[in-house]
Amino acid sequence: KDIIIAIDGFSSTGKSTIAKKLANKLEYVYIDTGAMYRGITLFAMDKGLIVDSEIDKVALLEKLPEIFIYFKHNSSTGVAHIYLNDVDVSKKIRSLEVSNYVSLIAAIPEVRKKLVEQQQVFGKEKALVMDGRDIGTVVFPNAELKIFMTASANVRAVRRYKELIEGGDSVSYEEVLENIEKRDLIDTTRADSPLIKAEDAVVIDNSELTIEEQLDYILELVKN
Ligand code: C5P
Repeated sequence: KDIIIAIDGFSSTGKSTIAKKLANKLEYVYIDTGAMYRGITLFAMDKGLIVDSEIDKVALLEKLPEIFIYFKHNSSTGVAHIYLNDVDVSKKIRSLEVSNYVSLIAAIPEVRKKLVEQQQVFGKEKALVMDGRDIGTVVFPNAELKIFMTASANVRAVRRYKELIEGGDSVSYEEVLENIEKRDLIDTTRADSPLIKAEDAVVIDNSELTIEEQLDYILELVKN
C-alpha cells in the first residue's frame, strides 16, 4: 500500500540523502522542500530584494505569484532537478549565500503558505517521500510514517563542509558550523518555528549511523 513518508529534522542531518534512497528503493516520488525555500531565496537575491541581510518583504510578496518552482526528473541520471521559472537552479540553491538567507525567507508566512499548498498537491497520489521541517506537523499531519532526524552540530558541519568543498565552494569549516548553528537558532526559536517534532514521529540520531543502517531501519518501519 502506498503511503506518505514525512522526514523532518535539523539541517544537514542527511535527510535528503536518506529520503532520496528511500524513494528510489520504494519507487516513490521524492520532494525536497528545503530546495523550494532555497529557490524563493535565490529569486529574492537575483531580484536584488536582499540588501545587507534585510529582505524587501513588500516587493517580495508582490512578486510571489510570479515565482514558479517545480521539479523535473532526469530519466537518464535518475536525479531530480529543481527549476525556478524555467531555469535549472539545482546547483545555485546550494551556495552558502543562499544558505545564509533561506531561514529568513522561510520565516515569511506568505512564503510558507504558498509552498505548503504546493507540497500538499504532491501528496495527492501518496507514494511520496518528502523531507523538510514541518512535513509531519503542517504539510501532512496524517502521514503514515514520520521520521525526525537529528545529529550533533559538529557532525552536521563536517558533512556540509565536505559537500560545499566538493561542489567547488571555498569556505572554512568555521563558517559552515556558524551557519548551521545560526539556522538552528532561527528555525527553533521563532514563534511559528517550522521545526517541531511531531508527537508520533520516530526519532533517529544518525551521528554514528551509516546510511545503510538508517535505510534498513526505516524500511523495517515501512513494512510494519
Ligand atoms: O533542508 P535545507 O537545509 O535545504 O533547508 C533550508 C532551509 O529552509 C532551512 O534551514 C529552513 O529554514 C527552511 N525550511 C523550512 N521548512 C521546510 C524546509 C526548509 O523552513 N519544510
